[in-house]
Amino acid sequence: MRGSAGYSEECDRAIWNKRLAQARQPDGIITVRSVDQVVEVVRFATANGLKVSPRGGGHHYGGAALRDRGLLLDLGALDFIEIDSAARVARIGAGVRGDVLSQKLAAHGFAFPVGHCADVCVSGYLLNGGFGWNSGEWGAACASVITIEMVLADGETVLASESNHPDLFWAARGGGPGFFAAVIAYHITLRPLPTVTCAWRGAFPAASAPLLADWLTAATDAAAPETEVGCFLMSHWDTGEQAIVLRVSACGDDEADARSRVSSFASPPRGATTIGDPCTEILPFVELFKLSPMPSGKRVAADHLWATAKLGELLLAVHDIPARSPHSTIDLVAYGGHSRVCLPRDGALSVGGGTGVGIYAMWDNATDDDVNRAWVRRVDAALSLFRSGRYVGEADLTASPGRVAECFEPQILQRLQSLRAKYDPNSLFFTWP
Ligand SMILES: Cc1cc2nc3c(=O)[nH]c(=O)nc-3n(C[C@H](O)[C@H](O)[C@H](O)COP(=O)(O)OP(=O)(O)OC[C@H]3O[C@@H](n4cnc5c(N)ncnc54)[C@H](O)[C@@H]3O)c2cc1C
Repeated sequence: MRGSAGYSEECDRAIWNKRLAQARQPDGIITVRSVDQVVEVVRFATANGLKVSPRGGGHHYGGAALRDRGLLLDLGALDFIEIDSAARVARIGAGVRGDVLSQKLAAHGFAFPVGHCADVCVSGYLLNGGFGWNSGEWGAACASVITIEMVLADGETVLASESNHPDLFWAARGGGPGFFAAVIAYHITLRPLPTVTCAWRGAFPAASAPLLADWLTAATDAAAPETEVGCFLMSHWDTGEQAIVLRVSACGDDEADARSRVSSFASPPRGATTIGDPCTEILPFVELFKLSPMPSGKRVAADHLWATAKLGELLLAVHDIPARSPHSTIDLVAYGGHSRVCLPRDGALSVGGGTGVGIYAMWDNATDDDVNRAWVRRVDAALSLFRSGRYVGEADLTASPGRVAECFEPQILQRLQSLRAKYDPNSLFFTWP
């Protein structure tokens, strides 16, 4: 409870973004270990006029789970994984981390498009939609969700699917941090574990963007539609200089197949200098996380947009905006070459462009907050001409009033709002930040 011993440590533990760990103060933080306890918390909150803020892994960049007043309902301990190999489905608790899920499924010969960083929890990731490893081939992760167990604001537990409470099922597949029930577990369809994955990586000085841009666009156009192309503007880990780091990855049935999917990147343009030698690596699916390291324990400001432009054009627009701290990155990611990622047939996740842009500022000292936040705003502004929408799971929903409207088509947002009014008429659950 607020004011009790250990309270501020709990706030700190609850939120990944250290800039926001003490920014808001719930009345209490409750860790639940069963569905019954979730129901009990919901009923207790209703009886006492408190709002409820569900938390999975606390990784939301804006610290959405930490609100002023009300109860933070921590579902992170619901980390069970039950696999039915014959039916190729699994029931996974909201608190399961991507790396744990991937390892467990791989042991049974299966895989799932988990988020790129090992510690991202399925809880909020799947509510957002989820753009993860091999989403170019398998689609947004929520497209592989078949049933969702949730506790509603009136304390009822429901199993939502295409045939049962289809409106709740629709809203939970992409509604993001504004969802109006507490998700306990997801039932997911499993993919056969890819035999092999191949990653090509190369780094270039940021100033070589004009030389690389057309080649990058052409190589991405020529890549197989299942190939993920990441172009990261960041400080190089060895030299510290501002660099363009390319990471191209694809799964395959065998090594030759996987290699062929990244082969359009094998010959960078003549005259381009590299930082170190480009390398091609063959690795198991479960080790893809190591290609996507993101430090923990940092102060963070982030934003996201979907862009209509191709990678080369986007690179040119931002390559000369130097980051203000060594761990900050601009991630330009074409999840399935330049094709659009497959979205769920019936889900609130509606604005998915070909190319995603994540802008992540990461630093250590509070005195650097303003300069880093301004950098995020500057990069976002430089890309505004190309913006077709924003990903509700990573966009800064507090950047300006009505920001959430940039994450959904108008009719989708309207439907989400009327479902909220129907299922949570007294606003028990916090809405979008
Ligand atoms: C390092 C890092 C890497 C990431 N990589 C990816 C990526 O590759 N692809 C991608 O798509 N996204 C990625 N994300 C974004 C990620 O999808 C969101 O941060 C997501 O919210 C993480 O889930 P969580 O359970 O930790 O959310 P939390 O921070 O715990 O919760 C955020 C909000 O989601 C809602 N919520 C969460 N769980 C529940 C629940 N069980 N029931 C009801 N509402 C709930 C609540 O409104 C809550 O306020 C990344 C984030 C980080 C920090």
